[in-house]
Amino acid sequence: MPIQSKNPYTGEVLTTYSEASSQLVENAIEKAHFTFQTWKAKPLEYRVNLLLRLAEVLEKDTEALARLMALEMGKVLADGRAEIEKCAACCRYYAQHAADFLKDKALAAPHGKAYVQYEPLGVILAVMPWNFPFWQVFRFAAPHIVSGNTALLKHASNVPQCALAIADCFTKAGFPSGVFQTLLIPSSSVPAILADERVRGVSLTGSEEAGKSVAAEAARNLKKSVLELGGSDAFVVLDATNLGHVVQMAAKSRLVNMGQSCIAAKRFIVHESVYENFVSQLKGIFKSVRIQDPLQEGSTYGPMAQAHLAEELNQQVKQSVQMGAEQIGVGYLGEAIFQPSILLGVKEGMPAWEEELFGPVASVRSFSTVEEAIHLANDSRFGLGGSVWGQVEKAESVARQIHSGAVYVNQMMASHPAIPFGGVKHSGYGKELSESGLWEFTNAKSIWVA
Ligand code: NDP
Repeated sequence: MPIQSKNPYTGEVLTTYSEASSQLVENAIEKAHFTFQTWKAKPLEYRVNLLLRLAEVLEKDTEALARLMALEMGKVLADGRAEIEKCAACCRYYAQHAADFLKDKALAAPHGKAYVQYEPLGVILAVMPWNFPFWQVFRFAAPHIVSGNTALLKHASNVPQCALAIADCFTKAGFPSGVFQTLLIPSSSVPAILADERVRGVSLTGSEEAGKSVAAEAARNLKKSVLELGGSDAFVVLDATNLGHVVQMAAKSRLVNMGQSCIAAKRFIVHESVYENFVSQLKGIFKSVRIQDPLQEGSTYGPMAQAHLAEELNQQVKQSVQMGAEQIGVGYLGEAIFQPSILLGVKEGMPAWEEELFGPVASVRSFSTVEEAIHLANDSRFGLGGSVWGQVEKAESVARQIHSGAVYVNQMMASHPAIPFGGVKHSGYGKELSESGLWEFTNAKSIWVA
């Protein structure tokens, strides 16, 4: 089946590509494996310098790359530019810290000299999603390539132009050609790649279903896997501290990337004393959202990435309303257009509470005691990245009791190269970013000299 690049705002098919043949995939694996032998042996400084060049290429090509995201998955230009800048910053972060993260770590052995040496594993497969088509790939690639691994990218089928552009950035930066390669393949090609002995691990960002399938294949072949899956995290408002600002952040946390973010705030758990005020201000912000052509300069909100995603979100909203929730806002307008909506009266059992709503819909409910807020925040099969807002000591204490990969206090949840990122429960396992992320695809080898 051809791989299609389609503009979600106009519905226009931009271009189609043939799937890579099995011979092409074989060639790419062999090249990645062959390159690994020399790449890992290069001085770290050599790999670091190429990463710095990669950051420069990204910055130079920002406009073109942001445009590609707008075309293929509807991200507005300003957000696309910010995404590319973040990728460049991630490259620079690892260029700056790789030597420290990868240096031998002394161990307290009972005698002699003992330490850990960090070795790269080999060829790593990245299975990546369309929502942040560059960021998701660069936060994988920067640490794992600087540590000496080589990478194969299987990107989401709706962003083939972005996938090819990423490989092109590596070429422009001067990387040896087998260090990073894009494969235009369907998900059905992934098991054979994971079964190949030359491929040593896989990192997937995407849905629970994709995660289960890829993790099962990795396990069958005894390969290391890192999974970054969905989230339905809590945004807990404890009191009236800075409420106007908190509501602004609530809207931003929910509407980031048209709601298509695993760490977007999804369940708003608001103290009864500020609930009415919170809802009324949030309504005002959601109502003011204008969906425009993402390619138009100045647009702040665009379509969702694909029509079927907007339809699926609409089904979740309709079912929640049938079960008793109240919808505020018009919601689904056909094709990939979804006007932000608020769901009130959300309860256990409704899709809006139990599932991930991957689009611009905020589920809001109130609580009366702190214990209840903690219980509600933890009442999810996901746990990726939430936030707690209010008086600092109280908010920090609540944050420490929420079972999630990360909980931020009085600031919006967002990934940062220096902060470990990764979930618990059905949000996946393993870490990305920081030194924890870099170590995921290294062998922490113990050396003990008598
Ligand atoms: P998917 O999980 O289907 O896609 C993500 C990536 O996984 C794509 O590269 C996809 O390839 C690949 N993939 C899918 N199934 C398999 C499989 N069985 N084996 C190997 N690779 C696979 O996400 P969708 O685009 O379908 O979005 C659906 C939902 O997933 C969203 O509504 C959201 O809940 C969640 N999601 C979460 C993301 C996150 O950041 N955590 C990002 C994107 C989605 P292909 O495109 O070729 O199918």
